[in-house]
Amino acid sequence: MTPHCRAEKLKTTMYNVQCTMYNKRQKPHSGVIPHLMRDPFYKNTSNFSPAVSEVFFSYQGEGIYAGIPQIFVRFEGCNLRCNYCDTPKALTVKQNAKYFTAQALSEYIFDIYEKYENNFFGFKPSVSFTGGEPLLYADFIKELITKYIKNKFSVYMETNGTLPEEIKKVYKYCDVVAMDIKFKSACRKDLFKHHKEFLKVCKNKAFIKTVITKDTKKEEFVKAVKLVSEISKKIKFVIQPSDFEEKINKKVFEFYSVAADKLDDVRILPQLHKLWKIA
Ligand code: SF4
Repeated sequence: MTPHCRAEKLKTTMYNVQCTMYNKRQKPHSGVIPHLMRDPFYKNTSNFSPAVSEVFFSYQGEGIYAGIPQIFVRFEGCNLRCNYCDTPKALTVKQNAKYFTAQALSEYIFDIYEKYENNFFGFKPSVSFTGGEPLLYADFIKELITKYIKNKFSVYMETNGTLPEEIKKVYKYCDVVAMDIKFKSACRKDLFKHHKEFLKVCKNKAFIKTVITKDTKKEEFVKAVKLVSEISKKIKFVIQPSDFEEKINKKVFEFYSVAADKLDDVRILPQLHKLWKIA
């Protein structure tokens, strides 16, 4: 075994140990936010390569930029367990996850861009960081953006909006922050305190998405609208039905009136990737 092979093996072993630690913390359906700053695993995120489940070209499926071409980087692992999650495969870090250094991932992104360059029609290409929850890897993403991709790509951060300390690290390098507000009826935890801190950090670049299910309560929706309107009435607000059932449709139209009464720009938009059946 050459020194290089030994070093690679050691690196792989370390990554596997870290993944095991991570998986132990990810109690299924716990819905608990890890205390990132006190956790030695997260403290040194810049020292390891995060798990990536896929990198691919497609079109944005939701929110106010729905339909634009993007290169998607999907990270594995999430601090929440929403009952409507459409990416369950990305929730935990798998033993066979792919690991990249920031430089290797940037090369992969550039390769995909070269392959699909014509689909961008001369516009600045956009990279969407998604998951799982990409901000679990904020240090790594900061390195990737600042050292390798910031001049070529615009940055779209797709996040559950619960990690304010992490968004602070990358906020200034993001062009758009697509932030979810999660309801207790879906995530079994009141996350509004975290959402408020998070939105205060990125209010100038954020738009909000709320997923409405048959279980969403009017009180929690009203609370979400209040939270956003108290920070800025100008923040764009998307109401996203989880399905097209009559009960949900009714609720969505009622909720639209509640939101439009307090905010300047409210839209009801479906998730296109569900219609395209590529979720
Ligand atoms: S935050 Fe997103 S990825 Fe995480 S469980 Fe909820 S829907 Fe799934």
